[in-house]
Amino acid sequence: MKKTILLWRTLSSPKQQSSIARSVRPSFPLKTLQAVLAKLPDLDVQLFDSRSGLFLQDDLRVSLQTRHPSIIVIEAASYGLPEVRDLCSRIRTPGETAVFLVGQGPTSLPDEFLSALSDLPLVFVVAGEPEEIISKAIAEYVASGTFELIRSNSYNRSSRRPFRHLFQEFSASPAIVYSAEELSSYVYRFPLRSDRKLVWGHAMATRGCPHTCTFCTHMIRESYGHEVRTKSLVTLRAELRQMKDLGVNALAFADDDLTASRDYLVGLCDMMIQEGFGFRWTAHARVDECDEGLLRKMKASGCSLLRFGVEAGSERVLRYYNKTCDAANWWRQARDVVRECRKLDIQTSGLFILGAPGEGFTELLKTAYRALFTGFDLLQLHYYTPYSDTPEARRTGAQRIINHDHYTLDACNYSGVSSFALKGIYFLTYFMFYLNPVQICRTVWNYHGFVLFNFSHFMALKLGFLGIPISLVSLRKKP
Ligand code: SF4
Repeated sequence: MKKTILLWRTLSSPKQQSSIARSVRPSFPLKTLQAVLAKLPDLDVQLFDSRSGLFLQDDLRVSLQTRHPSIIVIEAASYGLPEVRDLCSRIRTPGETAVFLVGQGPTSLPDEFLSALSDLPLVFVVAGEPEEIISKAIAEYVASGTFELIRSNSYNRSSRRPFRHLFQEFSASPAIVYSAEELSSYVYRFPLRSDRKLVWGHAMATRGCPHTCTFCTHMIRESYGHEVRTKSLVTLRAELRQMKDLGVNALAFADDDLTASRDYLVGLCDMMIQEGFGFRWTAHARVDECDEGLLRKMKASGCSLLRFGVEAGSERVLRYYNKTCDAANWWRQARDVVRECRKLDIQTSGLFILGAPGEGFTELLKTAYRALFTGFDLLQLHYYTPYSDTPEARRTGAQRIINHDHYTLDACNYSGVSSFALKGIYFLTYFMFYLNPVQICRTVWNYHGFVLFNFSHFMALKLGFLGIPISLVSLRKKP
């Protein structure tokens, strides 16, 4: 008899659910796991992604109660704990159903998740990237009915062994397959210069980021670890071909740093050019990893928008963030790359952080200046957030510990200026950027086609932008 494996991703945070401008990507861990498990015999694998909105929570509950899954793999964020508890309380045969907890929540708060499910005998927290170890554990379970592998490789409460798995065999992972309905259920809110309706596809070509920015955490990343692992281009080609056949014309790479491996990226661009996919694509990149030759190659393969985390205008703050080992040249590199992108008609988005610990008024003004005058086409500002598992939080243990993603929490002011001043700089920078006449002309030039053919998408972005003033009132004082 076939064994049922249930894969489930919990809902987005309440704040994200209520945000009209939110983006929702597929769950790459669960989709990869689904593809791996499809190769094992005698399994009935069902995936429920609550963030996609494709099904009702009741469908999940019915499936749980009628199909009696042998294993439930739950990907949860930290705010997903009540949902996880609710679903698991409905397991009818706890001694026969194992629960594997994965994702940002269980990785950050393993004890909390284990305590919440302490009445279940078979609960395992698999921190980090779970695909490899879980697929092996499921194969072991199918072959021998035991959970020894997962038992010895999951978080151990008594020794607090902090296992964080990496998907080392990522290069050999099978192609992820989507249905058209599934793809259309994910939303990607970035505008692309386009004169047609955008049909989004999603891909992740690499795992890991070699850099060590001190504010960075898996809470805001898609993958774990510093070691860069790359997906086989043959596999990726199959994924992209399938998406192309489903009508996809815009591709969002979810990689933490797509430019981390130059050779791989050149190969990826060559593959997309040879295949003639014609996607317009967007990705995260670093200004110190791009040059004219690489940007030309990316443009030829359809690159349309690059998002650069440039973070701060002041060298001191850049060093504080460990953003680069050459802080003195960071902004020269950024200017050159943005200028080159403009020549090639690649749009750029600048991502900045405001309010680093001790960041003074002059330093904040430098950041605002860089945001306004570097030449970015789009701008994103974030308040500094001290996540608990960052090098920065470990260095300054006295700081408030935050385990949720920053969209769920009001920002806090750790800077050297008052909350009023910080809010003012945030607000004015946004408004001077988007409402200055030059930028308005540039936006109309870049995005008139996008607005015409993607009007609902545009309205969601616009309403999201109007939400900025509301978000200002939520900035609290330093705890
Ligand atoms: S901020 Fe970006 S470049 Fe820095 S460590 Fe995180 S993912 Fe890597």
